[in-house]
Amino acid sequence: MIEILHPNRLPRAREAGALVAGVLQTLRSRSAVGTNLLEIDQWAKEIILEAGALSCYVDYEPSFGRGPFGHYICTSVNDAVLHGLPHDYALADGDLVSLDLAVSLGGVAADSALSFIVGDSRAPESVAMIAATERALAAGIAAARPGARVGDLSHAIGSVLSEAGYPINTEFGGHGIGSTMHQDPHVSNTGRPGRGFKLRPGLLLALEPWVMADTAELVTDADGWTLRSATGCLTAHSEHTIAITDDGAEILTLA
Ligand code: MG
Ligand code: MG
Repeated sequence: MIEILHPNRLPRAREAGALVAGVLQTLRSRSAVGTNLLEIDQWAKEIILEAGALSCYVDYEPSFGRGPFGHYICTSVNDAVLHGLPHDYALADGDLVSLDLAVSLGGVAADSALSFIVGDSRAPESVAMIAATERALAAGIAAARPGARVGDLSHAIGSVLSEAGYPINTEFGGHGIGSTMHQDPHVSNTGRPGRGFKLRPGLLLALEPWVMADTAELVTDADGWTLRSATGCLTAHSEHTIAITDDGAEILTLA
């Protein structure tokens, strides 16, 4: 199903987006060497519930997962890239952390992810990888406007990732969002321009380029959720929820 948000619900979408952005920035600023992933999850829970929002994750039970997710945020570290299940792990200097969060507020969901490096170590490989996903996200957003096709966004994202030298996995990518977290259309992180669903005002999309340094292949942890690079290489992920407007796109999850 592809949902077009009624204009009178756009303020709600903005509130949901601002909440997600604020939570992610707070969690990022609190994360330091020694911070436990379970602490990050607890902080996310407290802020989400305090705001009167609903977690899109706690009861999330897709076909590929193992029972309800049971946590409020995805914490993916180093070779873990998507759906990282918070667990008892204390962050170390130089860890590349990806936080992915979706909540529903006033009946509208927003979804965003960011990657950052913990501590003082700044491995060039980590810095470059994060920057590439951020540039790809910006390129996808820049291509989003009424009349553009989903393939235009996919092509814009994929071009940046490919030029940066990263293989692209097409199993997981961006998606429509609105009353629920995951909707059509799927927005692959690579694609052909001029193809796919034609965007129109009121469509909400979550764009989410993610990469692994030297492989496109994922493996699933024993926890049934956490997806890691098959080679153990570093990974990064950036995501924003955007609304297609009359003349372009508005980023709803901008901090
Ligand atoms: Mg997400
Ligand atoms: Mg998403």
